[in-house]
Amino acid sequence: MTDKTCADCGATIEDGQSAVLREKGKRVCYSCAALREFDDLVRRGQGVLYLTGSELTNWTGIMRFNVRLETFSKHGGGFGSQRTDAWFTGPDGHTWHAINRGDMDLARVRRVQADTYTRLDPRAYQEAMRKALAAHLEG
Ligand SMILES: [Zn+2]
Repeated sequence: MTDKTCADCGATIEDGQSAVLREKGKRVCYSCAALREFDDLVRRGQGVLYLTGSELTNWTGIMRFNVRLETFSKHGGGFGSQRTDAWFTGPDGHTWHAINRGDMDLARVRRVQADTYTRLDPRAYQEAMRKALAAHLEG
């Protein structure tokens, strides 16, 4: 296996395109990186996503969550900067809260302890979401 091969799925990684540097010079493709991020969010119950319009995404935009509710405070971010709070159904099917400050898209996200707003079974939601991200592994 060379460093041009995805360490997770074995796909060939195009130069400068779909490569993420990993431990010991290993690389994974964008799809596998998104899957790793998904599992990491579920495991840790927190992380970092990007708030863009009505969506929260990972940095490549492959993993996406729809914002359900958003509040905005013009100077709530401290030091005169804005603060946006967003709530969304996270990777595990539960409600998550995102906080975005200043002029960057970066948002800190965290699972909310309270139960989900949705009538979806969280487990089924998580499995469906993960299956969609892992679809490239079967083929
Ligand atoms: Zn891969």
